[in-house]
Amino acid sequence: MAKKKLSTRSARRAGERAAVKLTQDLDKLARLEPGGSPERPLPLESASQVEVTARGKPCPLCRGELRLEEHAAESIRGARLRVARMMCVACGGRRELWFRLSAEMLN
Ligand SMILES: [Zn+2]
Repeated sequence: MAKKKLSTRSARRAGERAAVKLTQDLDKLARLEPGGSPERPLPLESASQVEVTARGKPCPLCRGELRLEEHAAESIRGARLRVARMMCVACGGRRELWFRLSAEMLN
């Protein structure tokens, strides 16, 4: 019985491609979640909740711990938003979480 020499390698390549695809899908999915993009900000009562809420989220790619790198105020298409920029300590994946402060909506 002759075995196909390529089978192991091509199977591994297919696995790697699937892993990359999965990461891209998870990343895309995370952006569609509330807070995943400026179009879908999470409502918050006050700015002091931004960092607490951001720290409570796991990495969407590997469920690892996210480290908060920046908490910034941004104005996007007239909306005043807060963004928490985070990096996963496990896989290095980056994640942005967007918030809209209800108090600032009144201004
Ligand atoms: Zn991760």
